[in-house]
Amino acid sequence: MNALKLLQTTNAYKIFEGDKKNGTLSHAYLIACDDESMLDEYLSIFARSLTCESFVPCCNCRTCTLVSAKTHTDVIWYPKSTKKIVVSDIDELVEKSYYKPLELGVKVFCLSNVSSMTVQAQNKLLKTLEEPPENTFILMGATSVYPILSTVLSRVKRLDITPYPDSGIESFLVENGYEKERLNKVLTLSGGRVGEVIKRYNENDSEVAIELATNVLVNLKSSKQVAEFSAKIKKEVLKDFVSALAKLTQVSISASVKGESETAFSSAVSSILRSTSVGALIFISDKIRQAEKALYFNGNHQAVVDGLLLGILEGKFKWSK
Ligand SMILES: [Zn+2]
Repeated sequence: MNALKLLQTTNAYKIFEGDKKNGTLSHAYLIACDDESMLDEYLSIFARSLTCESFVPCCNCRTCTLVSAKTHTDVIWYPKSTKKIVVSDIDELVEKSYYKPLELGVKVFCLSNVSSMTVQAQNKLLKTLEEPPENTFILMGATSVYPILSTVLSRVKRLDITPYPDSGIESFLVENGYEKERLNKVLTLSGGRVGEVIKRYNENDSEVAIELATNVLVNLKSSKQVAEFSAKIKKEVLKDFVSALAKLTQVSISASVKGESETAFSSAVSSILRSTSVGALIFISDKIRQAEKALYFNGNHQAVVDGLLLGILEGKFKWSK
């Protein structure tokens, strides 16, 4: 998920863009944001903005792609091996800062959450912050600025990313395939933090997958509905959806044989058995296994979904009640 559009609405990004336009970029920025899960993505966008050929990073070119995958040779991330940035990371940074960039006109160092950086490492960084080599930028992300030494703070330009309005998060996530109705349930609880919204949204994934799978088994009746259902089965939920479907068909088949079902699924099972014959469910189980196999081999998401939905429909026709 590319958070550029969201970040562009912040004052922090506007200030940065202004610096770029006016040729007054600072050699070091501290990006302060208490939404930790988004921090690296934001750093990455600032890094793309410093390296992409277009003024607004295109997020498509080779540079942007490598930067967002954290594999560009001239955009270097720390910490390297530990969870927090330690002296050896800064030693390496200082050494690398002396070398010219290999591919680009600039070199960018991205420091993930510097709130946990050791004091020794911070002290080590001071000299580079004071006299940075030419065409070198240091981007530091921080969930809290309190653990950062005042000597560091005084040498960087601070940009604060404050919580977003709920409406801003909503339109951004809806554009990225999130369901509006379900988002609204978690938006107000998340304090304007995108990461928090996504976490809460995903927490009840399996519940949603069961609901969606039941809905498909009970209500999918014509090929005209395939597109409509297919749109609801997003890439992020596909695996959960297929597992839910497998579970539901399996418990429905055994319920029809034994005459009773696991209580957790009993209401779903009875509506499935009212609409779908056991013959159809057995046929569908086979289609589910094919979908699982395709997923295992990283089959195309849309093709897997459509194949599965058509398979369910085929089973229902062949073995109609
Ligand atoms: Zn680009």
